[in-house]
Amino acid sequence: MTTVNAYASPSATEDLVPTTIERRDVGPHDVLIEIKYAGICHSDIHTVRGDWGPQSYPLVPGHEIAGIVTEIGSAVTKHAVGDRVGVGCMVNSCGECANCQKGDEQYCLKGMTGTYGAVDRDGTVTQGGYSTHVVVTEDFVVTIPEGIELDVAAPLLCAGITTYSPLRRWGAGPGKKVAVVGLGGLGHMAVKLASAMGADVTVLSQSLKKQEDGLRLGANSYYATSDPGTFEQLAGSFDLIINTVSASIDISSYLQLLSLDGALVNVGAPAEPLPVNAFALIGGRRSFAGSMIGGIPETQEMLNFCAEHGLGAEIEVIPADKINEAYERVLASDVRYRFVIDTATL
Ligand SMILES: [Zn+2]
Ligand SMILES: [Zn+2]
Repeated sequence: MTTVNAYASPSATEDLVPTTIERRDVGPHDVLIEIKYAGICHSDIHTVRGDWGPQSYPLVPGHEIAGIVTEIGSAVTKHAVGDRVGVGCMVNSCGECANCQKGDEQYCLKGMTGTYGAVDRDGTVTQGGYSTHVVVTEDFVVTIPEGIELDVAAPLLCAGITTYSPLRRWGAGPGKKVAVVGLGGLGHMAVKLASAMGADVTVLSQSLKKQEDGLRLGANSYYATSDPGTFEQLAGSFDLIINTVSASIDISSYLQLLSLDGALVNVGAPAEPLPVNAFALIGGRRSFAGSMIGGIPETQEMLNFCAEHGLGAEIEVIPADKINEAYERVLASDVRYRFVIDTATL
């Protein structure tokens, strides 16, 4: 065991505080990573505050990890000391079920192991990336290609793959009209990725406050959803809508924006069930679907795609002692577009 510095949540109601945690010894298939940057995802806040169920504390969040390999186990073949690597939302899965075999480890039939707050296969509780080091089995460590800086790469491990996967699956590309609902951490990556894939991209945001940003990030058009005229004007327009908003929205009125055979894919997870008017689906052979992060092979594909297209997240790098303040700013939507912790300050 090695003791390393970290920032942890002591309970659902207290601020995060500096602490130390234990990392396991490097096993034959393990990689020790010196974490350089860790992104702050909205899920971190929901999890540490117990919004998604009870947690075991102290809890170190963080599932957007970018760093350098500093030690490898005797049987490791995928990575070498000095490699630039990333870890996303999961650190293990059964490896044997049908979904794992297909490279869809996030849908492991026995349950994937989350990067933090999950019981690992050795019985310990996982601790995340707000920390100086982490030990992860090599199969859940991806390579960050040269050409993407580690700080802008970190958010790709959750925000990037969460939007890349449905864009690919539902065929975003030349000749396709894609709308992105919400221009936050996920939405800004959806815009960049869909635009790089060659799609015609529209942002649907509550107001026009971030319009300039949206267009700069690659959107072709930008509409305010607070304006009822938007829904009339855009009816039947889109092949694909990616909904990144985790608050409840009126799904049926967004479904009306889809063309024949269009799909609305939810990547956010509102706490309450979303009512859907079936007429909005059957009237245009439309689909309402969901998608959760992406598998390890697809995460690597996404990173390679980002390197090829010169894409990274828009970030604000912060020292560790600004984490609590950053949480408040994320909750107030006052971030453009991802906070990334410089772990040297831990
Ligand atoms: Zn996340
Ligand atoms: Zn499995």
